[in-house]
Amino acid sequence: MTARSEEIAAGLAAVRERIETAADKAGRAPEEIGLVVVAKFFPASDVRILADLGVTDVGENRHQEAQAKAAECADLALRWHFIGRLQSNKAAAVASYADVVESVDRLKLVGGLQRGAHERSHPVDVLLQVSLDPPDREGRAGAAPEDLPALASAVEEAGMLHLAGLMAVAPLGEDPDAAFARLAEIRAEFVGQHPAATRLSAGMSGDLEQAIAHGATHVRVGSAVLGSRPPVK
Ligand SMILES: *Cc1c(COP(=O)(O)O)cnc(C)c1O
Repeated sequence: MTARSEEIAAGLAAVRERIETAADKAGRAPEEIGLVVVAKFFPASDVRILADLGVTDVGENRHQEAQAKAAECADLALRWHFIGRLQSNKAAAVASYADVVESVDRLKLVGGLQRGAHERSHPVDVLLQVSLDPPDREGRAGAAPEDLPALASAVEEAGMLHLAGLMAVAPLGEDPDAAFARLAEIRAEFVGQHPAATRLSAGMSGDLEQAIAHGATHVRVGSAVLGSRPPVK
């Protein structure tokens, strides 16, 4: 093993242990919780190490970086999750390599995703990103809870898209436990209307325990596995 693979193996083991402990505490089976390792800012060589260590799902939040890395790692059996803010003119391109798009938050994205999935002849799993921010929050990402039904219908009508569930990020400066408790209520209502869309992607390096306590089926973890990234912006 190289020094880098030892470092990543240690980070991964620690995160898997945290997931197991949190699942135990919530009375859930650890196998119920999927781990998406967020590789943004880290090179394709790290993604190869992750795949060697048994990681099956990788997350990216910038289209160009994601597209290049997915191409470099095309020989690996990985599922690529697009988790970042998506521009409608990039939606078709994202669907050409992403297996899961977690950040669908407006109707304008659906047409492009459907087109990209159709051209690739490969269905794409879609998660609707729901905002847990107050409605007036600047730069808010995610749909308002009341906009989910229309968005869900549009995804269900697109033949190459599969409505899999919801994704959310805890707002900065709020107790994640309170935010994810709200998310659990939104999700219960959503699953009532879409019984097959049970996936819930929530929780990151800093708050995966709280997310698991409130029903997350997938956590998206970057820095706790791969180390700290250069600061964004
Ligand atoms: C970067 C990112 C993550 C991972 O964050 P860490 O704190 O490094 O675990 C999770 N979700 C989204 C949407 C992200 O952009």
